[in-house]
Amino acid sequence: MKKQLAFVLAAAFLAAHVFAAEHEHGEAAVAQAFIKEIQSRNAAYAGAHKAAFFQELAKGQHPRATVVTCSDSRVHTNMLDETPEGDLFMVRDIGNQIDTARGSVEYGVNHLASSLLLIIGHSKCGAIAAASGDYSKLEAPIQKELDTIKIGKGVANIDGVKTNVNNQVADAVKEYADKIKEGHLLVIGAVYDFADDMKQGAGKLNVINVNGETDAAKVQAALSGKVAEHEHEHHDHH
Ligand SMILES: [Zn+2]
Repeated sequence: MKKQLAFVLAAAFLAAHVFAAEHEHGEAAVAQAFIKEIQSRNAAYAGAHKAAFFQELAKGQHPRATVVTCSDSRVHTNMLDETPEGDLFMVRDIGNQIDTARGSVEYGVNHLASSLLLIIGHSKCGAIAAASGDYSKLEAPIQKELDTIKIGKGVANIDGVKTNVNNQVADAVKEYADKIKEGHLLVIGAVYDFADDMKQGAGKLNVINVNGETDAAKVQAALSGKVAEHEHEHHDHH
């Protein structure tokens, strides 16, 4: 019994000591542990794929979509695509805004010729929260990116997120008007709602804008291909 207690005490001391040591080392120790974890996960990833998989990637990329999302750590491609390699050209920044990443977006749309430009905002967005308040005390580079987010002060976060997505789509629709008109590009605005702020179910990717159209019924019609069919019929008349 005594021996057991001594063991428990020793273990507790050891744990406390390890904790103190970790605490002393602080963030650097956390980072060191994480890079080891990342390396081990990467080894597992590399091992799980056949050589042909990487050979295919080495040949080049033909992404079907250019995707503009917020950098937020809760937003990742696996919520919309389990195998994004070679298929999603990713552009990420705070507030999923085009203005400070215009070159990257242009590269995806014009040079890689992805036919889908997907702009994704998300619930509980810190960039939107900052942009809807006073951010004059933040670092100048952060202010510069937040300046591109045109939303009202004090708006509810999810409303600001939706407005920003619509603004970004409007920007893209203007920029790529010709491609859209010729049917080479589809611009979609969506909100990844992990907080279920839109009451459509937690984790749902809610499409709110198609080529600048925000009317819910028309968005649904466009997604189900009714607009495309209509345009096709229209085209046949000529
Ligand atoms: Zn965000």
